[in-house]
Amino acid sequence: MASKNMEDLVSLCKRRGFIFQSSEIYGGLQGIYDYGPLGVELKNNLKSSWWKSMIYDRDDVEGLDASILTSRHVLKYSGHEDTFSDPLVDCRNCKNRFRSDQATDGKCPACGSSDLTKPRPFNLMFKTTVGPVDDGSNYAYLRPETAQQIFTNFKNILDSTSKTIPFGIAQIGKAFRNEVTPGKFIFRVREFEQMELEFFVEPGKDDEWHKYWVDKRYSWWIDQGISEKRLKKLDVEDADLSHYSKATVDLMYEFPHGLEELEGIANRTDFDLGSHTKNQNDFKISADVMKNNQSTTKLSIQNLESKEWYIPYVIEPSAGVDRGIFALLNEAYKEEDLENGNKRIVLSLKPHLSPIKAAVIPLKRNNEDLVNKASKIKNDLQTLGMGRVILENSGNIGKGYRRHDEIGTPICITVDFETIENDTVTIRDRDTMSQKRVSTHDLELEYKKIFN
Ligand code: ATP
Repeated sequence: MASKNMEDLVSLCKRRGFIFQSSEIYGGLQGIYDYGPLGVELKNNLKSSWWKSMIYDRDDVEGLDASILTSRHVLKYSGHEDTFSDPLVDCRNCKNRFRSDQATDGKCPACGSSDLTKPRPFNLMFKTTVGPVDDGSNYAYLRPETAQQIFTNFKNILDSTSKTIPFGIAQIGKAFRNEVTPGKFIFRVREFEQMELEFFVEPGKDDEWHKYWVDKRYSWWIDQGISEKRLKKLDVEDADLSHYSKATVDLMYEFPHGLEELEGIANRTDFDLGSHTKNQNDFKISADVMKNNQSTTKLSIQNLESKEWYIPYVIEPSAGVDRGIFALLNEAYKEEDLENGNKRIVLSLKPHLSPIKAAVIPLKRNNEDLVNKASKIKNDLQTLGMGRVILENSGNIGKGYRRHDEIGTPICITVDFETIENDTVTIRDRDTMSQKRVSTHDLELEYKKIFN
């Protein structure tokens, strides 16, 4: 069963070192979080799993790591300067500020007053000055999505690889949005990470590829450990579509605070490449693109049969890393009643995502033979490259098991006096708590088995 409430998760994340409020010692910075020792491992594992499925497991996608600071021209012609805003409302009574869709029946969500200002657009992009002179003209933006630099690099990647359509460019990285009302833990934050694929296709084949990516992304989340009963596909209504989208399907997850978007899969048509293209009149662009840009390049591709140049359509699966972490923690969190009347908390993460893959625990912390043997086992397993293995030398086996249940370590390996005599160790399974004795010679095999 998933966690019953948000507090359980927030408290576990802080207690065990997954996620902390940023700048906490100065009172915190709202809507910004830091990932601690276990959080960074979990995040890296999730990102690696995405990267593997997008790039290594296929032959039609290339990777990119573009800059965060983005030229204002890019975000002007992408439409973000004009349209990337939320409708902001002020409550004249309690001075609270919120997005207009949060005012149920026209009332302030904080105090219930109806004395509200009219909604006005509030641009969500963070602006910053580039260079030493701040005269108001030399500014750039922190990117609000990773996608735009994929579009601006379209030609570079095409020219430097041998890709032909259909093909994709994938990127993982930070994005920034000055959200009016951040909250719900790491669900809505001002600094977050996205895993985005821009998949370029021939116009006319876009609907079929859109469906393909919706199904592919849905099953990827299920493979990460999200249960089908908490993951829904939602066709976004026309009135709610982003300025670039012809159709969007959101993957909606049942978070502790309600059903909300985990990932959006949009058909962005030829809007972005068309908007960033030089001499737009040379092309039959279907979308209502941003006109008269200052681009120096045509972001187009040649049909090898007809020899005609055209602007490809793009399908974009865009997932939030932080929302993914939140959903996966929610899925994995369990409280179990034990036979002895105690409770245990266990994080049943899939082993490929677990921050620590195995903990090697010597029975006595001061016994040199046990500690040396345990260190050797740790080092041997570490060299297999499946992720982090640790030596847990706290000297208290029960406490060690409890800690590793709570942080989702799939197995604990205990080194005791029998190990010194006959080279066997105990392996304890996180989910079943069952223990078995195995020879150290079989340990590598047993360890690899947990990832199957
Ligand atoms: P929402 O409607 O919830 O604000 P969105 O539709 O604006 O989200 P997209 O622009 O489609 O979001 O961004 C793609 C993904 O990036 C989202 O599915 C989400 O996982 C993530 N994301 C967007 N905004 C945030 C945020 N403020 N905090 C954390 N993740 C975010």
